[in-house]
Amino acid sequence: MKLPLARTLGIKNCDSIRIVGPFEHLAIDYSDLKGENPVILARTNGVSGQFMYGIPVDRDVLLTNHKNVHKKRLAKRRRKLVEKITFLKPFLNENEKVLLVAKGYSPVSTFEKYLIGWFFIYLKRSLFVFTNQRIFHIPTTAVYTYRNTIAQIIYSGCESIAMKGRSLVVEYSKKTKREKFLWISGKERKKITELLKTISLSAPTDESSERTHLCPSCTNSLAKDTYTCESCGLQFKTKITAIILSILFPAGGYLYTRKYFLGFISAIVEIVLLSVMGLSFMNLQNDVGGSIYWFLFSIVALLSEKAVMIVHTSDLIKEFIPKTPPLQPKQ
Ligand SMILES: [Zn+2]
Repeated sequence: MKLPLARTLGIKNCDSIRIVGPFEHLAIDYSDLKGENPVILARTNGVSGQFMYGIPVDRDVLLTNHKNVHKKRLAKRRRKLVEKITFLKPFLNENEKVLLVAKGYSPVSTFEKYLIGWFFIYLKRSLFVFTNQRIFHIPTTAVYTYRNTIAQIIYSGCESIAMKGRSLVVEYSKKTKREKFLWISGKERKKITELLKTISLSAPTDESSERTHLCPSCTNSLAKDTYTCESCGLQFKTKITAIILSILFPAGGYLYTRKYFLGFISAIVEIVLLSVMGLSFMNLQNDVGGSIYWFLFSIVALLSEKAVMIVHTSDLIKEFIPKTPPLQPKQ
């Protein structure tokens, strides 16, 4: 709907604008907020003071397509994604606004590609939140819910960020490191390409020039290969424990890193292999023909399975898995 006041203020896609309350705030009704409270802006804040589910957003970017045209279905889809990231509020800086949220996947190592296989790609599901300062990379569950793990890519620490096919490719400063985030939601590909054109990557900064994880309890940056947050003392699961548990118990490493489905499969595999090993050992004692091959096979297979679990869980540990669920950071 086109309203004279909306046009004067440069506010797009709203149904009505009213001045409400003793402090003369602007109340703006958006068609995509059907049945919900209107967006209330302090008059001095202007359009930049917009929120969605308590998260500061730029509606003109968030709810429009790559040609900056407002589309109802697209707006609905994007709003649903903003609903998934309400935990993000304490992580945002002052003046930081969410521009876009997209689904995608974490980088997959060559090891995972060949040994874990594409079947387990769902373990890599992530949300990508583009703000005016950085990209939040949020590894999620298979249904895109937050699991207390969050990382950031600061624009000013990047040499280039680009969509290549369906992957988001990030080159960190001085091209020392490159990361490829797979299968970014096809529907958002063009929008991301357009969005990245508007972002400056060259601002001088002393911020870290690679993806860094943030503490889910106090929001501070976490140093690589540490297992305790220096600021709030939150403890994370350690690589050495993952390795010891993988060696000692069937599925030990997977259960420790809370990958229960992989743990279930790995436990079955290990129990079968241990049974084969026990049976063939007994047969060996009784001189049953061919049992030596079964015995050797089960040992090699079990050691390989343990090795895969150790390498895989050591990789999972890098996501900083809190030992106990952390308290939500203060808003
Ligand atoms: Zn902390």
